[in-house]
Formats: sequence, C-alpha cells, structure tokens
Amino acid sequence: METERISATLRAVRLFQPGQPLKQVQMEIPAVGPRDVLVRVKAAGICHSDAHYRAGLSPVRPLPMTLGHEVVGIVEKAGEEVTRLRPGDRVCLHYMVTCGDCLHCNAGNEQFCTTGKIIGKYRDGGYAEYISIPARSAFVLPEAIPFEHGAVMMCSSATSLHALNKARHQPGETVAVFGAGGLGMSAIQLAFARGAASVFAVDIKPGKLELARKFGAVPVDAGAVDAVAEIRRLTQGRGVDVALELIGLPEVMRQAVQSLAVLGRVAIAGLTNKSFEIAPYTELLDREAEVIGVSDHLASEIPFLIQCVLERKLDLSNVVTKTVPLEAEAINQVLDDLSRFGEGVRAVITP
Ligand SMILES: [Zn+2]
Ligand SMILES: [Zn+2]
Repeated sequence: METERISATLRAVRLFQPGQPLKQVQMEIPAVGPRDVLVRVKAAGICHSDAHYRAGLSPVRPLPMTLGHEVVGIVEKAGEEVTRLRPGDRVCLHYMVTCGDCLHCNAGNEQFCTTGKIIGKYRDGGYAEYISIPARSAFVLPEAIPFEHGAVMMCSSATSLHALNKARHQPGETVAVFGAGGLGMSAIQLAFARGAASVFAVDIKPGKLELARKFGAVPVDAGAVDAVAEIRRLTQGRGVDVALELIGLPEVMRQAVQSLAVLGRVAIAGLTNKSFEIAPYTELLDREAEVIGVSDHLASEIPFLIQCVLERKLDLSNVVTKTVPLEAEAINQVLDDLSRFGEGVRAVITP
C-alpha cells in the first residue's frame, strides 16, 4: 500500500499514563493511505468516557494515545482512491473504524468488527489538529450544522438513535426514557422525530425534567413519585411500547422493564456489571416483553441523525456548555470537572 507523508507536525493532547494528566505534544502528521482522508479537526467533544480513559477505568491502548472520539472537521487531503470526498469538505467522523470485510461488517453489525477500533481509544483520535481516518468513516456535514453540534451528535445522539432502533421503535408507539441527561435529551427528540405518540422522561433532577418538558416529553419525577406507577397511570394502565435505560442502574433497569406494555421492548444503554432483577412470569412472559442490549451505533444511522439536526428535529444547542482550545491544561480541567460532576458538563475542543 502506498502511503504519503506530509513533512509538517501536528499538535495533539495525549494520554501517556492512566491516572496522569494528558500531555500536549508535537508529533508527525499521520500517513494518509490511498483510501484515507486527513481531516483538519474543527471540533472534538470531551466525553465522559474520556474522563474514564484518563482515570484508567476503561482500557486505552497502545499508549500514548490521542483521545477524542467525537470529531468533526474539514478534509485536508484525500487518498488517491477516495472518490466521495474532496479537500474542503466538512465531515463528521464515525468513531468506530471498521474493516468493512469481516463477518460482522458484512452483516451490517460493524460495531462487532473483528478488527474494529474506536478512535481516541484504540487509534489516535481528535484531540489534535489533524486526524487520519478511512474515508468510509467520514460523512459530509452540511454547512447549516455548526461544528460543535456535529461533534456531540457523533456520540450521545448516535447511541440514543441506536437504542431506539434496537428497540424497534415504530411511529405511533409510546416511549419512556429513563435518564434525561445528554443521551436522554437526544433520545426524547429522536423518538418524536420517529413519530412517537408520547415520550415520558424519567429523572430526579428538576432542571433535566424541565428541559425534557421543553422538548415535548411528559416529565416523571422519580424522586417524588413511583416512576412505574406514574407511567401506568399516564398510559391508562397500558405501559409503554419502548423503554430506554440510559443511566446504568440495576433498579432503574427493573423499573424500565416494569413500565412496559404487552409486547414492549426495553433497550439498555446504561453501563453496569451489576445484576438486575426481573420477575420472569409477570414481567416478561406474560407480556412477551424483550430486554435488549445496546452497543455503540452504526455508520448507517448517521445520515438520519444529520437529517434530524438539519430539520431542527434534534436541537443540540443546549448540549454544548463551553468550548476550550486544544491545550492540555484546559482539557485536563474539563476532564476534572467531568470526573467530579459528571453529566451537565459538555465541552468541545475547537482547535
Ligand atoms: Zn462520547
Ligand atoms: Zn469488520
């Protein structure tokens, strides 16, 4: 395979050792293979997962690694076999780099690609001036979508959409979203974009419930009422067709199952390794209910996301709380805040 190197260097903020602050370095601009594009990064989201990576709670290899999996930018250079993209194109990057060839890729489940690598975790990501990536991972980002919105769209919004798809959400069906944070706000809006009859947003934080209401959801304050009983009451005892668990708490997973209607589906995207309880007869068999796991998302889901943002069905203007420069100190500060306060902090690096 022919590759070409550009002589200049790039600035990147990288993880050298878990538990240590990220460091800023100058490094060589990566090779651009015939089917790759070199993208000048315009925005890179700082995700809660990045705080986990820095803390060593989730594996990153090899080290050092440039973090950043929520990346948008402008094509600087396209490999000689790339026909779909040209220098100057605005693009957003699918964070999973896949082979396109293996059993899972061929079956359309490329999140299980046998050689798949998440950028910013298993290959260099977007906390840098440039990133080299296979052209097939890059999607044209329309001019009307700001770079910052494009960046956050590529992680939490994409996961929310995948959860709705895994739950086989159909127009006219009701949805309960457990967890009205970053994922939840996208899930509520995307459920409506897909024709949800009604959406119930379950959380304990008043601010999140208020925002959920602004997006058209019926807020359910789990701190004040029994969420399951309330959802049953609001649906005349029927329950919901689809429930999404976006928090990662066993007791909430159980509530999500308990809130289901006959033939209802729960999609679980919240992370935990703790077990949760289900009463098989009354909660599953008797309703033919389904519990479904959600892992990452698919490249094929990205065009719908872009469409929703363009049509203003998915409004991400509330999501980005601040922008920071591509500097180690500023980025470490955001990661500190994320570790301390969790969601609610959504910063985007704009190099
Ligand atoms: Zn993310
Ligand atoms: Zn593959």
